[in-house]
Amino acid sequence: MQLNDVHSRLNATTVRRVERPTSEVEVVASIQRARAENVGVAICGGRHAMGGQQLLDDGVVIDMSGMDAVLELDREQGLLRVEAGIQWPALLAWLETEQGDAAGIWTYRQKQTGADSLSIGGAVAANVHGRGLTLRPFEDDVEAFVLIDADGQRRQLSRTQQPDWFAAVIGGYGLLGVVTEVTLRLARRQLLRRVVEVVHAAELPELFAGRIAEGYEFGDWQYDIDPLSPHYLDRGIFSCYRPVDDGKTEAPSKEVSLDREDWMRLVELVRTDKTLAFEAYRQHYLQTNGQHYWSDTHQNATYLDNYAELLQQDSVKGPLATLMISELYVPRVSLPAFLSAAANVLRQTGAEVLYGTVRLIEKDDHTLLAWAREPWACTIFNLLVEHSVAGREHA
Ligand SMILES: Cc1cc2nc3c(=O)[nH]c(=O)nc-3n(C[C@H](O)[C@H](O)[C@H](O)COP(=O)(O)OP(=O)(O)OC[C@H]3O[C@@H](n4cnc5c(N)ncnc54)[C@H](O)[C@@H]3O)c2cc1C
Repeated sequence: MQLNDVHSRLNATTVRRVERPTSEVEVVASIQRARAENVGVAICGGRHAMGGQQLLDDGVVIDMSGMDAVLELDREQGLLRVEAGIQWPALLAWLETEQGDAAGIWTYRQKQTGADSLSIGGAVAANVHGRGLTLRPFEDDVEAFVLIDADGQRRQLSRTQQPDWFAAVIGGYGLLGVVTEVTLRLARRQLLRRVVEVVHAAELPELFAGRIAEGYEFGDWQYDIDPLSPHYLDRGIFSCYRPVDDGKTEAPSKEVSLDREDWMRLVELVRTDKTLAFEAYRQHYLQTNGQHYWSDTHQNATYLDNYAELLQQDSVKGPLATLMISELYVPRVSLPAFLSAAANVLRQTGAEVLYGTVRLIEKDDHTLLAWAREPWACTIFNLLVEHSVAGREHA
């Protein structure tokens, strides 16, 4: 049976079989069956990771989508216990059904911003991050979890229970076993105001620091992707979010937003006319200046399953091409110099960036395989990869 990842589609893998447990007992049974056959195991959630980590040649893939229940909400401490296969939309829907769609409810503090159909187990495994301005990676949002290890043994892990295992599993990409349930530390939902301006790379270190000092909690800088523009990787949309301080708690207005059709048009444009695409995006963002958002839902995304087909228009010759999202970490003061050097390299090599953003991360000194080893700027490049031998080589 052949499986692939959802986003890059670059990891077609022939696996022996897929098992979809619906309980811990079934996870243990899957592991024991694989052991008896002397076959390796891989674990998948939403299958969005682009490095093929969730698949294994001739292996057993344990698909966690059958373990997607919410188990318990501790309303005193804001702790939510969920099965690890649950994805963000179901988790949010449960929280809103239980508590109402209102300010002050318990909710997630950060999630990935490019897609929502991602599992909590996948978030733990990759130690993900969102667009928080002062947040550590997801490890900081995880209170405890349950792991079934390679012997089929159940381990209850937290910062105080087997802390070495806890630190190794978060960001450990599923190498140490199957995470079956996770206890998340939630935050109170707040109303935020988005403030948007268009700024240059040289100003970023100071502007980010200024926004943090003023109390902004989220933010990013989405840059110009047209290599023919003098502002390539140099000019970008700087949007930051700050709690509204006038006591308002009403549901946010959605006066200006991009619907699915708008996103489809943007995706079509981004390959054929990058100047126009960036200009349309810039105009849209500027119109949202001052709008209100919930602190959780502004982190959600419209994800187009058919984005690769939209990119593949008649006017664009060549084989199917998909995106490989890559992220490089840079000391914040070096950001302008890095972006300028990156623009040169990308132009020289003819790499095609279809989207890019810069965010911040605080240092993680809690996990074994920590990627946030300093308080860095995270620079993200969505690189187009053609599905051909030459295209892969080029990427
Ligand atoms: C469009 C897009 C946008 C993204 N945006 C961001 C972003 O803003 N920030 C960010 O940090 N990342 C981002 N990512 C990366 C993404 O968060 C990770 O790849 C994440 O692991 C995917 O979750 P998933 O449920 O799809 O996991 P999968 O792709 O199914 O698996 C990913 C890894 O997690 C392991 N795993 C999954 N479930 C379990 C489990 N229950 N127990 C043990 N191991 C498990 C798998 O073995 C594998 O190694 C993005 C990816 C895409 C495609």
